[in-house]
Amino acid sequence: LPDPDVAALTRGDVEDLLPRPGDESDKYRRGVLGVAAGSDRYTGAAVLAVGGALRAGAGMVRYAGTHEPVALVRAHWPEAVITPLERPSIDDVGRVQAWVLGPGLGTGDWAHELAARVLASNVPVLIDADGLTLVAKDRGLLRRTAPVLITPHAGELARLLRADRDDIEAARLDHARRAAAELGVTVLLKGSTTVVAEDARPVRVNRTGTPWLATGGTGDVLSGVAGALLAQGLSCYDAASCGAYLHGVAGHLAADGAPLTAAEVATSVPAAIRAVTRTA
Ligand code: AMP
Ligand code: MG
Repeated sequence: LPDPDVAALTRGDVEDLLPRPGDESDKYRRGVLGVAAGSDRYTGAAVLAVGGALRAGAGMVRYAGTHEPVALVRAHWPEAVITPLERPSIDDVGRVQAWVLGPGLGTGDWAHELAARVLASNVPVLIDADGLTLVAKDRGLLRRTAPVLITPHAGELARLLRADRDDIEAARLDHARRAAAELGVTVLLKGSTTVVAEDARPVRVNRTGTPWLATGGTGDVLSGVAGALLAQGLSCYDAASCGAYLHGVAGHLAADGAPLTAAEVATSVPAAIRAVTRTA
């Protein structure tokens, strides 16, 4: 029997929810996203998250990070506004409407301090990857009033819930719901299908995508895409749902039956938006 508390996400849902610029739009009002990602060890995640965000229609992306990823983001994305960080602080970054926190950030004291500063802000924060490791070690980081969207795969959710990865894989909806209730956040649980859970809302299931997406860096692109939608004013629940849907379609278009790279998924996001919004 169909579960009334589960909803399959449709193209029409996403078409209705996606923000579009109006005649009076300017880059600030379209949504400014902050990205706190990358480290001297993991540089590429920052490039991919920023790329996903730019391709998903952020009015502006402000990137904050350390030397190596700063150089790489600068080389790849002249569109991004970059703040090289000497200290783990966001004081010099400027105003943003949402943050993406965590891809490639590292999990040491410096990363923890930067995560604490980002989460002390009063705008929505999407937490992924190393950001989730930091939160698993220190749940106190989640004590804030503005919304939080987490985007774990099963392994990351296992660490957060101190549960077994196989148990999560066997009951993905239940664990996504449990995490949402226990942590007071919106949960986007990644995998071959993606589920989005939030308290008092039906779980949304997204089936767009392709197994070719199972390759390094695609999750970082997703964080940028969903983050850009958050910055454009969608709720965590809708940004997660639309982000997962578009990311899956972009993967499908990028792969076309052959291997893809994460950067190509980001490149394909505008085509995915066209495919979703251009109805016959
Ligand atoms: P991550 O685990 O952070 O590297 O993110 C991987 C991305 O690829 C997520 O968006 C997953 O939903 C997607 N993905 C991974 N494996 C599959 C699969 N077998 N079929 C469809 N999408 C997948
Ligand atoms: Mg990941």
